[in-house]
Amino acid sequence: MKNIHVDALVIGGGISGMPAALDLGDQGFQVALVEREPSIGGKMITLSKVFPTLDCCSCITTPKMSAVAHHPSIKLFTYCEVQSLNENGAGFDVAVLQKSRYVNANKCTGCRECEYACPITIPSPFDRGLGSYRAIRVPFSTAVPQTAVLDIDNCLFCGKCEKACPVEAVDFTQQPETFCIETTAIVLATGFELTPLGAKKEYGSGKLPNVIDPLMMERFLAPTGPYGRVLRPGDGMEPTTIAYVQCAGSRDQTQGVEYCSRVCCMYAIKQAMLINGALPLAEVTIYFMDIRTFGKGYEQFYQNAKAMGIEFVRGKVASIREDEKHNPIVKLELTEEGRIIERTHDLVVLSLGMIPAASPATFNLVPSSDGFISLPALNASPTATERPGIFVTGAAGGPMDIVDSIVTAGSAASEASAYIRSKMGMRIEQHEVAYA
Ligand SMILES: Cc1cc2nc3c(=O)[nH]c(=O)nc-3n(C[C@H](O)[C@H](O)[C@H](O)COP(=O)(O)OP(=O)(O)OC[C@H]3O[C@@H](n4cnc5c(N)ncnc54)[C@H](O)[C@@H]3O)c2cc1C
Ligand code: SF4
Ligand code: SF4
Repeated sequence: MKNIHVDALVIGGGISGMPAALDLGDQGFQVALVEREPSIGGKMITLSKVFPTLDCCSCITTPKMSAVAHHPSIKLFTYCEVQSLNENGAGFDVAVLQKSRYVNANKCTGCRECEYACPITIPSPFDRGLGSYRAIRVPFSTAVPQTAVLDIDNCLFCGKCEKACPVEAVDFTQQPETFCIETTAIVLATGFELTPLGAKKEYGSGKLPNVIDPLMMERFLAPTGPYGRVLRPGDGMEPTTIAYVQCAGSRDQTQGVEYCSRVCCMYAIKQAMLINGALPLAEVTIYFMDIRTFGKGYEQFYQNAKAMGIEFVRGKVASIREDEKHNPIVKLELTEEGRIIERTHDLVVLSLGMIPAASPATFNLVPSSDGFISLPALNASPTATERPGIFVTGAAGGPMDIVDSIVTAGSAASEASAYIRSKMGMRIEQHEVAYA
């Protein structure tokens, strides 16, 4: 098994992992960044625009992805899974599995000839299943690295990609490989996943075609999205009434997610504003228990949305069913009036919550009561875990927006840097004592 030595290992290549790696690399440390997907970028590269400035997400994320790939002190390992993490006295030994791309990454130029030749079309996870891609493909247009990956489970083995590849990079025999990264410090930046769309049977168990998750709406609204417009997945119709159901995955004891996911109010307001621009005649309603606009400029953003004509209705949504045309019917209690009403919409977006993408146990860490990585000195040292040398940034430590993800990336990199320097200082002192 090959061994790689670095000063710092960053696990997760989203908007918190990338700046942490860049900060450490800029300080002259040798850094490895391990990402489980075939490209870095995290959730942010899939988003449309970012609240509260409405800047283009791709325009902010793509330069960071490129900077990571070209940084002389950062080694990038994509499509890799951390298998185990053990202390070795000086730092950590981390066993990493390089999954098979069935493409030789050293030869592949990202020309996409294999993709054009492949006859198999499958739903694209990058587009939340709304768009499609080929069994062999470069993951998306701005992916880093621009290296193809073959989905062997959907492959016909027809060999068309192999024939089309000008550099003989397709390799059906490629095997997964395990290697070891020896590192002094670790920054965990593994981020979040959404609570499942089908978790609540009262909201249709994920089976109603026109009840969707908010990352699907991001893909509808994104300039890089599959259709370049907002459509109902059920029948391709342009919706004229769209509703958001807040706290559809958070603040809910029945789901075991009792905490507030913090970003859902803001992303619902953002999407409602973007829909207002994309479909000026559409009516957008947000059903909420309370609106939480916690960040700088966020309350003004909310007030702007109201002024644009977006309807905010205080109430608890009890259930969602559909009529014979698959229009979702929302039943809710207007909590201030004590009345129960039903309203029909063309499309409903569930404002789902955030749960950890990776189990803290994978890194021999204890989760806190919310399931995210425990941060025992939150007020004094907000990115330190209970294990010296392991730091956390972004949504791996709890629900967080992009601003805070980038702030904690700086904090985690700074704490990791101080830790590595203290370890290096100790090594120099021991060396000096030995030769005194
Ligand atoms: C619908 C929606 C819209 C949003 N809109 C906004 C917005 O407009 N403005 C805003 O401020 N915030 C927004 N957010 C929040 C924003 O997405 C998060 O703040 C941000 O993505 C957190 O970044 P992260 O790097 O911590 O996590 P992620 O983006 O989740 O990145 C984590 C990375 O780690 C990788 N990873 C996970 N586990 C492992 C593992 N075991 N090994 C290796 N790699 C791993 C993942 O593949 C991923 O690439 C939105 C969220 C949602 C759901
Ligand atoms: S061998 Fe598989 S990946 Fe290659 S073109 Fe045929 S179906 Fe597509
Ligand atoms: S595998 Fe070959 S054909 Fe496909 S993108 Fe890479 S170099 Fe191009």
